[in-house]
Amino acid sequence: MSATPVDAKLLTFENARRTAEEHAARVHPPATESADLLDAAGRVLAEPVTADRDFPPFPRATRDGYAVRAADLSHVPATLDVIGEIKAGEQTDKIPSAVGHGQAVSIMTGAPVPAGADAIVMVEYTSRRGDAVQITKQATPGESIVPRGAEARQGSLLLDRGRRLNAPAIALAASVGKSRLQVYCRPRVAVLATGDEIVDINSTPGPVQIRNSNTYSLAAQIRETGGEPVLLPIAPDEPHALRRLIEQGLASDLLLITGGVSMGRYDLVEQVLSEMKAEFFFTGAQIQPGRPVVFGRCADASAQKYFFGLPGNPVSTMVTFDLFVAPMLAALAGASPQKLTFLHARLKSDIRVKTGLKRFLPAILAGEFENSSVELMPWQGSGDIAATARANCYVVIPPDREHIPAGDWVAVMPR
Ligand code: AMP
Ligand code: MG
Repeated sequence: MSATPVDAKLLTFENARRTAEEHAARVHPPATESADLLDAAGRVLAEPVTADRDFPPFPRATRDGYAVRAADLSHVPATLDVIGEIKAGEQTDKIPSAVGHGQAVSIMTGAPVPAGADAIVMVEYTSRRGDAVQITKQATPGESIVPRGAEARQGSLLLDRGRRLNAPAIALAASVGKSRLQVYCRPRVAVLATGDEIVDINSTPGPVQIRNSNTYSLAAQIRETGGEPVLLPIAPDEPHALRRLIEQGLASDLLLITGGVSMGRYDLVEQVLSEMKAEFFFTGAQIQPGRPVVFGRCADASAQKYFFGLPGNPVSTMVTFDLFVAPMLAALAGASPQKLTFLHARLKSDIRVKTGLKRFLPAILAGEFENSSVELMPWQGSGDIAATARANCYVVIPPDREHIPAGDWVAVMPR
């Protein structure tokens, strides 16, 4: 097959990732809808959430003990008069109005600190005798008190648009009384598997046919990333049928094609997209698995749509989704951009690889508490779904490392 002008666009991993991020930064956020707070978990917030009052709304005791004037404890042990008790949620008219010199108020965690007091002494450093308390430890002003408004001032921004609603964000929304939230609508992502050997999972494969697993792994990843998968029929390795299905896929917000992007005679995806006047931002990345990955844009009847051509090997499909599709899909879902960050772990046994490609190899991170280590999963290459399903992460190997000895720190991409 003749070389197309796009053949030259083989990028380093970092440049390919940045290219995907740059385009992601340009997409417009989708429409919004209202969601019940419980259903908003995992969605992307589409409205700013502000503090409806000061947080905390009163100076809050963070310990059970006695509210005191720190200056009264310059010499310890000291004995103070106990003038009352405040528990969390106490009505204000029952609270002693002020703590004077030589006085203390018994106080519980979460209760408002009375005027005059500037420290809480933990109950562990006190002994009560009737209406007096003996205190054995000095206090510093402010100790065990969160001042009113120290966490957030009334009206200040707590959560911004584009924020993915994880458990702390849901807690924050609940704390300001938001029982419903505006969230972004999920973008539609078309999935097109290609290949004459690929058959639907509901039909019995012939001896040399392969069931279509990529459509389903991609659909799962799309859902995890906040999109709605639109499954297209399997495209044969034939340009006319392939083109019709690509055109169908471009009606969605994003199109993912798997297979047909390598150098084989029947890898027709780039050729067909070129005929459709597509723009290519890269047609390969120096990675393994996933080297032939393609990213570009093509006009639909209504607008320019982004597409990815992901290599058909099932592990390549999954890895290239995580590396390049995820930032674009997150942007289409309204999420603020996130850089890809790797964790680090100690390597359990030596790794030897060829240099030249950045590798993302299925691995197992195991151990307990602070003693964890990571080890490559033995595999048969990027078609080995079984080994990849046993793995729980990828070890990231830079292109210039040939031998990494056991005990070295390596980068890990969680899955
Ligand atoms: P390709 O990228 O089209 O050259 O395909 C590479 C390898 O991935 C071949 O062994 C294909 O049979 C396999 N493959 C391609 N598409 C799929 C799919 N949708 N599901 C499972 N395996 C696939
Ligand atoms: Mg193929």
